[in-house]
Amino acid sequence: MKSLFIKNIKEIITCDDNDTVYKNSNILIEDGVISYIGTDEKESDKVIDGTDHIMYPGLVNTHHHLYQTFTRNLPQVQNMELFDWLITLYEIWKNLDSEVILYSSLTGMGELAKNGCTTCFDHHYVFPKGIDNIIENQFEAADMLGIRMHASRGSMSLSKKDGGLPPDSVVQTTSEILSDSQRLVEKFHDPSRFSNRQIALAPCSPFSVSEDLMIESAKLARSLGVRLHTHLAETIDEEKYIFEKHGMRPLDYMEKLGWIGEDVWFAHGIHFDDKELKRLAETKTGIAHCPISNMKLSSGIARVPEMLKLDVPLGLAVDGSASNDGSNMLEEIRIAYLLHRLGSSTNAPNGYEILKMATRGSARILGRDDIGQICVGYAGDAFMIDSNRLEFIGASKDYKSILSTVGLKSSVDYTIVGGKVIVEKGKLKTVDEEKIISSANRVFEGFISK
Ligand code: ZN
Repeated sequence: MKSLFIKNIKEIITCDDNDTVYKNSNILIEDGVISYIGTDEKESDKVIDGTDHIMYPGLVNTHHHLYQTFTRNLPQVQNMELFDWLITLYEIWKNLDSEVILYSSLTGMGELAKNGCTTCFDHHYVFPKGIDNIIENQFEAADMLGIRMHASRGSMSLSKKDGGLPPDSVVQTTSEILSDSQRLVEKFHDPSRFSNRQIALAPCSPFSVSEDLMIESAKLARSLGVRLHTHLAETIDEEKYIFEKHGMRPLDYMEKLGWIGEDVWFAHGIHFDDKELKRLAETKTGIAHCPISNMKLSSGIARVPEMLKLDVPLGLAVDGSASNDGSNMLEEIRIAYLLHRLGSSTNAPNGYEILKMATRGSARILGRDDIGQICVGYAGDAFMIDSNRLEFIGASKDYKSILSTVGLKSSVDYTIVGGKVIVEKGKLKTVDEEKIISSANRVFEGFISK
């Protein structure tokens, strides 16, 4: 049995059902699972001194497009909104290859891990002809870093000639998509407790996928016992497109296709009316909130205060780096807090509620009841910050909210996944970070100059 004992932790912010905060306590993780929290000393293979450190549950990212890490900060798209932005970027993304997937995934998930994230969901939907092993490359990167990964078999079936946005070379037929979806679920999806690898089925969006593919993906996902994910209610352009094409609002269209329920979560979910928010709550359909992306693409402000009041399952996410330019859940936490203060004033969630959205809230929409909290019987996924730093002086009265209010502007001190330290003193521990930076830069230059 492998074990890790962390002692004298100044505060453990558990995000459990009772909002428990342990002070000056120890934690034991055995075989990847938390087996003890308290003040007793325990025997273990490895000991970390947690003096002055604050521990939080590992952050759970519920929407990303890791490949976009290699198209962030591109000057030609910085001033665009979603549809134009997509049309321009598809011309670059059609040149993706295995090396680009591996190194963009290492870059994006490496940055996530350095900032406290322990589980990453990725929505990959660009499958250029002849490029196999994309999902394999993503899991390879996750394994190298030691992060838990939920990948997805995304898809696009409507190209420009069928009224969609992407070029012909990156769309596939419904039967190609469904058979590869089944292959990947059978190869990788592990539904067991403390699983490191899961798969969801994730057609890109209602405006890049046929009605038939949405319906068949839902049927296949339910027959295989995996979850469903797509982009929805991100922009007013999307709302108009769906109304013109199908004569109904986006959520009604999704419901008509069987895309509503506890096993479904949507990225963004900005433009819902009151009735639709109630429908999400009744059906326990989840939303991945992506505040930085929504601000950057001028998409709007998601109705997070109302969703929290109604108990709509709600998680936090960075979204693809082309609409965020970073993969940092800590930054997302602070921006979410500030955005809703601006948008909703006294009705806005407090700092701790945003942290819970990024941990237990995110775990809920991924269908996990074994991550997102620090409790005995939960996975040993956590991060720690040394509180003894200049920028935290004067802010020590509420460590539950500090990540939202003050924010952390540098990497965390430790990130731990299943009892294994993957970040130590702000540096990736399982890989040679300098080597990855140099190789990733080389691969990026080759890709962007194609
Ligand atoms: Zn997205």
